[in-house]
Amino acid sequence: MNNYQVGQLIQKRCTSCYNNQVAVLKVDRKDFNEKSAFFIWTQCPECGMNHSELMPEKMDNNDKRSTS
Ligand SMILES: [Zn+2]
Repeated sequence: MNNYQVGQLIQKRCTSCYNNQVAVLKVDRKDFNEKSAFFIWTQCPECGMNHSELMPEKMDNNDKRSTS
């Protein structure tokens, strides 16, 4: 399951207009030997600039599973 979703706004500084939020356009999961990461394409909603970068998989220790 992806931690990043298409259409999601993430906190990331646009290198073009310095807006601090970009929208996720596409997510591609990359699995390495010991960890996985996400290659994401983003677009700034302010100036329309496209970016792509490798993001580490989020470690969410507060994940609450619905087990009883
Ligand atoms: Zn921008």
